[in-house]
Parts: sequence; C-alpha cells; structure tokens
Amino acid sequence: MRAALDEVGAQLGQRYPLIIGGERRETGEWITSTNPGNPSQVVGEVARGRASDVEDAIVAAEKAFKSWKRMSATGRASTLFKMAGILRRRRLELAAWMVFELDKPWDEAEGEIAEAIDFLEWYGRKAFELGQPVPLAHLANEATQMIYVPLGIGVVIPPWNFPCAILTGMTMAPIAAGNVVILKPASNTPVIGYKMVEIMEEAGVPAGVINFLPGSGSEIGDALVEHPKTRFVAFTGSKDVGVRIYERAAKLQPGQRWLKRVTAEMGGKDAIIVNNDADLDAAAEGIVTSAFGFSGQKCSACSRAIIHQDVYDSLVDKVVKRAEAAVSVGPGVDGEASMGAVVDKKQYDQILKYIEIGKGESRLVLGGEPAAEEGYYVEPTIFADVPRDARIACEEIFGPVLALVKARDFDDALDIANDSEYGLTGSVYARDRAVLEKAREEFEVGNLYLNRKSTGAMMGVHPFGGMKLSGTNTKGGSPDYLLAFVEAKSVGELL
Ligand code: NAP
Ligand code: MG
Repeated sequence: MRAALDEVGAQLGQRYPLIIGGERRETGEWITSTNPGNPSQVVGEVARGRASDVEDAIVAAEKAFKSWKRMSATGRASTLFKMAGILRRRRLELAAWMVFELDKPWDEAEGEIAEAIDFLEWYGRKAFELGQPVPLAHLANEATQMIYVPLGIGVVIPPWNFPCAILTGMTMAPIAAGNVVILKPASNTPVIGYKMVEIMEEAGVPAGVINFLPGSGSEIGDALVEHPKTRFVAFTGSKDVGVRIYERAAKLQPGQRWLKRVTAEMGGKDAIIVNNDADLDAAAEGIVTSAFGFSGQKCSACSRAIIHQDVYDSLVDKVVKRAEAAVSVGPGVDGEASMGAVVDKKQYDQILKYIEIGKGESRLVLGGEPAAEEGYYVEPTIFADVPRDARIACEEIFGPVLALVKARDFDDALDIANDSEYGLTGSVYARDRAVLEKAREEFEVGNLYLNRKSTGAMMGVHPFGGMKLSGTNTKGGSPDYLLAFVEAKSVGELL
C-alpha cells in the first residue's frame, strides 16, 4: 500500500477531460478536487461540463444505443467480468486514489474496491439470467414469451462517499442490461470517477455507451434529468436532491415519449436498538464501529443508539470507553488512524454546527471539537440523554456524531426508531426471540440486522436499499436490481 501511495502521489495535480462518445474534451473550466485531510493538496482538476455538453452527450448516447441494445448478454456481461479482473489487478492503486481524494482509511478503501468487484460479478451474472425464458402459463395453440428490453439513455448520478463501488454498480448495472449511460460523478470525487470510466473503456464498454460528464449538480443536473430523451435516472445521494430529481423527472417534456424511470437511493438516520437482555459488549462494539467507520460518512452509519433504560448507564459507559480505545483520528495517507477527515469544508462546518446544536440539546460525553488545525478533522463525538425529538436525533448529520437515546422498554425503543422520515438500516441487539421477531416484523428499514452492526452490507448477501424517504427501494446487489433498467414485452403467436 505504501508503494501504491507513492506511485499515485507522484501523479497528483493532473487534468482530466470530459468523455463524450469516446472523444476527450476540455471546456476551459475546471472542478478542482483536493485532499480533505490536506486541502492545499490538489488531487486533480476535471473539466466542468456545461449545458451544451449535455446535448452532445445525449446525441452520442443515442447513437451508441442502436448497437449496444443488440449486443448479446454474453458480450455485455463480459465487459463486467473483464472490469472486475482489472480492478483485482489494480486494487491497491485505486484504493490509494481514494486515500488521497477522500482521506479514506486504507481498510475502508480496499474494502470498497472489493465491493466494486462484487457488484460487477453479481450484475454480470444477472445479465445472463435476464436473457433466460420467463416461465408463463401454457396455451395449447399459442406460443408465448416474455422478454426484457433495455430502456435507453440513462443519467447516473452517484454520491462521493463510495466513489468506486456505488459509481461502478450504478453505471455498470444498466449497461449490463443493454442501456447507455451519461455519468455525472459527484464533484468531490471526479478524479476517481475518471479512473473508473477509463477502466470501463479498457474492459470493452464502447464509446458512447459510457459518457463521462462531470459538472456541478446544481448547474447541469436539471438539464440532464429534464432532457426529453433521458429515459431513466439512477440517483444515490441526499434526500433533498433525490426528491428534487423525482419531481423534475415526473414532468412530461415537449417531445418526450415515455414516463421516466427514477431510482433514488437517499439518506438515513440509522438506529441501533439495545434491549435489556443484550450482550452489551457486542452492542458497544457494533455501535462504535457503525457510528465512526469512515467518519460516519456511510448512509448505513449508526447515528442513534436507542437503549433500554435498565442497561442505559452501563452501555453509555461501555460505548464511550470503546470509542476512546478504538477510534483514532489522523491522515489516511499515514495508514494509522481509524478515522480520516470529513469530505469538505461545507460538511465540516455543517457537522460542527450540529455539534453546537447537540451541546444545547443534550449532554456531551465524548469529543465535540475539531481534531486538527489543518484538514477537515472532527473528533468522534457522542451525546447522551438526547431527547427523541432533538434535532441531532432526527436529522441526518453524515459525520462522526452519535446520539444516545434512553427508552422505557423495547416497544418504546422501536417506536422511537420508527418515528423518522427515514428507513434505511437498523440493528437490534437482544436475546429474547420474541423481541427479535417483533423487530423483523415492525422495524421500518430496508436493511435490518440482528445482533450485528448496521454497516458492511455485502452485495448479493444483503441486498441494499431503504424504505420511506430513504429511497425507492431499488435493492443494490439483489436478484432483481437489473429489472429497474428494462421493460418487458410479451409476445403471443397463434400456432
Ligand atoms: P448529494 O449532495 O445529494 O449529491 C449526490 C449527487 O447528486 C452528486 O453527484 C451531486 O453533484 C448531484 N446533484 C446535486 N444537485 C443536483 C441536482 N439539482 N440535480 C441532479 N444532481 C444533483 O449527496 P452526497 O453529499 O454526495 O452524498 C451523501 C448522501 O448520500 C447522504 O445523504 C447519504 O445518506 C446518501 N447515500 C445514500 C446511499 C443509499 O444507498 N441509500 C448510499 C450512499 C449515500 P455535485 O457533487 O456536483 O453537487
Ligand atoms: Mg476531495
């Protein structure tokens, strides 16, 4: 890993173009990507797309769709398997890019490359299955069939927090199903986005099937979403942006001949419930790992621990001690600390603002301050005795801030957990079978974990996606994810 960091460190500061129909293009304006642990270090500059580039990307994609939609399932899937092979070979180098662009700790960065590989292996196999005959009821005098056909031009808008894995999954799943994509990477992580698109090309995704169009979401996002030739939008990010895209995509534009498909996977306020019969050491470990891994910047991160009053005091103590012992803050490049900086100045200010709000709403028991003079480092922060309706107990903070809430009993804890607009992940620590079964039935989350942490979903193992305002529930890494990007045609022929 040190050799990979040296190798990548020598390549910082380069410029990267847009890629439209295979053509490299500059626009005269640049998005500057910096290292959040060392903000004066420029990781790279990426061309900033404009509205006129949107039109060109649509034209290039439309042209490429004519042939890609006829490519065999074997041909499409092979590009995913080839890409997985390239990622295996370049695993440490790509992890190193994320260490620079996001200050991601080494293990998190390497784990993310492994997740990207899992996505590719899973969706490649699902592309074959999509081509298999669908069992239908039989008629004696008619041959019948249902086939899946790709939708067309998709706009893919991923977040910055998993700039390899989520970007790869959201881009290559629709491509595996025969669609063409315009990818707008998050503005915090366009360099790693460019690297991934280069690898897609190397793996055999043809020009125009993948188009790379970085740009500010607020400047080109609407143009991409509203274009009458956009057939679907795949979005992962915050609730506010997701809701906006959902509304905009619903409006029929002049010349538009379909209703747009939107998949929007959004934020969370994920809770871990601890019952009075739970293994408290396991619960403390699960809470701390889920809350502070990657500085709390996972959509699945635990931001509320809701604890039965009988074990509240002792668990608060264990959680604080565990966080003190297990969580350290420092630069990702050093490979020593478990937590790096938060993503940018805006998030840093926002997190510190929430910490001030928390100090007024509850009792600070750990951290609560910036953790360095340089870089966007925040101490792992824990608040106890947080009222269930406090802002830090309800709003997504997306940083290393954990709220501990006391509940009367398990039913009260479940009521507090469900009293949220979000429903992404949740965990329950308990031994009583009846309690675990009640959680299985009534905990309103897309990903429920019993007696384990709330982060670390594996593709194909824990299909991932939320309920309620956490999203459209398009389960990433599930058997049916590709169905979001196709429509079905039935054919009956009289014999
Ligand atoms: P974000 O601010 O919503 O940005 C996500 C993407 O949307 C970025 O590419 C952004 O571009 C783009 N965007 C912004 N405004 C837009 C507009 N008007 N039209 C079209 N696109 C627009 O979210 P984020 O800060 O990157 O990611 C953190 C959020 O993602 C958290 O809420 C987290 O919970 C959520 N998340 C959810 C999941 C899940 O599976 N449910 C997974 C990971 C993250 P710019 O970068 O240029 O602004
Ligand atoms: Mg950056």
